[in-house]
Amino acid sequence: MEAWQTHEIANQVDERRDYNLLDTDPPLLDALQRAGAEGFVPGLSRYSEELGRSFGLGEQANEHTPELQLFDKRGRRIDFIDFHPSWHTLAAMYRRQGLVSLPFDSDRPGRWAAWAAGFYLQGQVEAGVLCPATMTQAAIPVLQKEPQLWAQLKDKLVSTDYDERDLPIAQKRSILIGMGMTEKQGGSDVRANTTTATPVGAAGRGNEYRLRGHKWFFSAPMCDAHLVVAKTEDGSPGCFFVPRWKPDGTKNAVHIQRLKNKLGNRSNSSSEVEFHDACGVLLGEPGRGIPTIIEMATYTRLNCVVGSAGILRQALVQALSYARGRRAFGRLLVEQPLMRAVLVDLALENEGNVALMMRLCEGYENQHEPTQRAWMRIMTPAAKFWVCKRAVELTGEAMEVLGGNGYIDDGIMARLFREAPVNSIWEGSGNVMCLDVMRAIGREPEGFFAVLDELARDAAGEPRLAAEVQALRELVTATPPAELEALGRRLAERLVLAAMAVLLHRDAPAAVSQAFIATRLDARWGRVAGGIDTRGVDVDALLQRAFPA
Ligand SMILES: Cc1cc2nc3c(=O)[nH]c(=O)nc-3n(C[C@H](O)[C@H](O)[C@H](O)COP(=O)(O)OP(=O)(O)OC[C@H]3O[C@@H](n4cnc5c(N)ncnc54)[C@H](O)[C@@H]3O)c2cc1C
Repeated sequence: MEAWQTHEIANQVDERRDYNLLDTDPPLLDALQRAGAEGFVPGLSRYSEELGRSFGLGEQANEHTPELQLFDKRGRRIDFIDFHPSWHTLAAMYRRQGLVSLPFDSDRPGRWAAWAAGFYLQGQVEAGVLCPATMTQAAIPVLQKEPQLWAQLKDKLVSTDYDERDLPIAQKRSILIGMGMTEKQGGSDVRANTTTATPVGAAGRGNEYRLRGHKWFFSAPMCDAHLVVAKTEDGSPGCFFVPRWKPDGTKNAVHIQRLKNKLGNRSNSSSEVEFHDACGVLLGEPGRGIPTIIEMATYTRLNCVVGSAGILRQALVQALSYARGRRAFGRLLVEQPLMRAVLVDLALENEGNVALMMRLCEGYENQHEPTQRAWMRIMTPAAKFWVCKRAVELTGEAMEVLGGNGYIDDGIMARLFREAPVNSIWEGSGNVMCLDVMRAIGREPEGFFAVLDELARDAAGEPRLAAEVQALRELVTATPPAELEALGRRLAERLVLAAMAVLLHRDAPAAVSQAFIATRLDARWGRVAGGIDTRGVDVDALLQRAFPA
């Protein structure tokens, strides 16, 4: 008897995978060229080919989430995190590519842009492994200031040889570093930390302390060490290097309580820990723990920006691919005027993100110059506030392009959507970022005005941009400092949009910059994606540039 057959499967569009992520990304290729990073492109392109084949690994790593094994079979404490092999494969790929330490292991121009491209590409396939990679990268500039420790760790930090073994640092080929600040009673307010650090012998930099207390969030607890904030005897915060294994070869008393059950970022393990007189070495001067850990956060925050830009990029690629294959009411979705408005709005967002993240990278690479440093110090928190927050909203919009398929948890859209909010929360939530922008402007007004001067110069020929930069200058000079705090979000948003618009005006095709300016700087710009007037916009050109068909 013939099998039952009620229908043929038609008009269903598969997820986009098995493609070269870099070669299909003209805005990113242009940005690498501009940054003088073209020498890195062939390597990144080969890597993108490998990444394109790795979407299945990303899926597996998030399906088979890490498990905590507190004790071995005979009851000995091991605090071991058991990851699926796909996690190790993805983490090893990133490390082998040299991306964990690329910005710090040479003076080669364009290295920050090349690193950002690699991070952005990897995050599109699987973002969880980027958490320990980010913290390790950001720990490097802090550890470089501790000559004795740096001499021991340098080769293992810059190594491209992934080593997942749970062993004392001396026995490892490469290491990962995490960070521990957040406690139950306060995360943003690090000064509220109650964990204590007591010197074993003499107090002071480079000396050993015993840490007692807890951390409420402690990601990647399998890392070979964490930089941990704890209060010294006089009550002032210090920053400590707390290894997973003690120099004598026994486990350090950093006891994992449990793993967090997270909305997204599931491949990555985040934990709660207690320090039972754990051994730690003081980094930096006593009482300077906050500036020390904040230096690390200045770097991790850039990664949040690049990570969210990558999430949005992948959501755009999937949405656009789907719309190019799916028909409704007799036409492809990509031919429907209202859908084109949504897609082009997402593409413009992507353009602005890439332009801004690459400008930030230029600042990090040349941070010895005052204006570049101001980009790093003032514009990074503003960008983290805006780019990470927009990714939350716009991954939802991209998901809707796939209709019901977008909402199904088997697919990458659901994973991108669940991943997006974390970049906005960790490493300083939205308000904290805006407060940081204000603080930085207050401390270095000349840096802020230097950034505005640069924007005004590059806005030449575009009166709408020049007027917006001038309005920002007036907003900051005319508002009494006491009133400025409440305007933090408003200022950060306007600052970021003005910067993106100016950068696109300077560097991108006119079709892109004109559409960006006409939407983002227009008070009538629609509150949701697609609420833009596309009548003067070359939608075909912008979508083709976004992801060539
Ligand atoms: C998945 C995940 C992993 C994490 N991993 C780590 C880790 O490895 N190490 C680590 O140290 N931390 C980690 N964190 C913690 C994270 O950094 C904190 O959750 C974050 O900094 C916010 O701190 P909190 O949760 O205590 O919130 P709170 O500080 O209580 O803030 C709550 C809200 O109030 C706002 N707020 C705070 N102060 C002000 C103010 N003055 N004005 C206006 N609004 C304000 C914040 O923006 C936020 O929206 C992780 C978090 C998550 C979700």
